[in-house]
Amino acid sequence: MKWEELTADDLAELSRRNDSVVVVPIGSLEKHGPHLPLGTDGLTIYKIALNASEIEPCIILPPLFYSYVADMRQFPGAINIREDLLLNFLENVCEEVSRNGFKKILIVNGHGGNVSLLRLFAASRLTRKTDYSLYILAEPWAFEQKVLQEIRETDEIGHACEIETSFMLYLHPELCRMERVKPAKTKPKPLSGIPAITPVDWVVYCPEGYVGDPEKATEEKGRRLVETYVNGLVETIRKIKEDKVVGETVKLLGLDKL
Ligand SMILES: [Zn+2]
Repeated sequence: MKWEELTADDLAELSRRNDSVVVVPIGSLEKHGPHLPLGTDGLTIYKIALNASEIEPCIILPPLFYSYVADMRQFPGAINIREDLLLNFLENVCEEVSRNGFKKILIVNGHGGNVSLLRLFAASRLTRKTDYSLYILAEPWAFEQKVLQEIRETDEIGHACEIETSFMLYLHPELCRMERVKPAKTKPKPLSGIPAITPVDWVVYCPEGYVGDPEKATEEKGRRLVETYVNGLVETIRKIKEDKVVGETVKLLGLDKL
């Protein structure tokens, strides 16, 4: 169920069920190699969320394409939203979902650059009025570890690579420009073994706006990746519907009354 396609009365009816879950998909606008569209992350995670909602009913908000892409601004097409704005925006969206009567919110993320920010968003709910239970699938390939080992043929994966391109070949083949694909010239290199993070880690890792060899991507690999994610998401939504721990802890801490 898409939030924007429901009538006000139908939405109000759904809000009276106390196991309703609202899913917020978040992606990005940034270069995805020479062959994938800027909105790859949002397009992918949105379609996966819609597929999951057909198996386990839940309400899906329109995907949030605007997000945190500070380390991809050197390429055309990046729209970066400042971190303070984005945190406030997410807070605002969650408050409005809650004001409409939905007390279980799941953010599903398709973009690696959002992970730190989403972790901070979760943690900072402890200092804000939070009259809802928040769940976040922060890692873009949250359920794929096993299937990745089975299907990958390339060493370097992580962005517009064999794996991400396979997702898109299965979900949005009409948007893939596979005739433009060449293996990335540069090998990703970590910063000379220094055990510290730096502001340019990703820029150094991904100098061409993609990594590895997307030529190894196939629609069949994409099908397995998508099915794995959808199954994981369905299971997660079911567990969230049953969960009482988050809501009870929020009340115990008095966060709903801050
Ligand atoms: Zn991506």
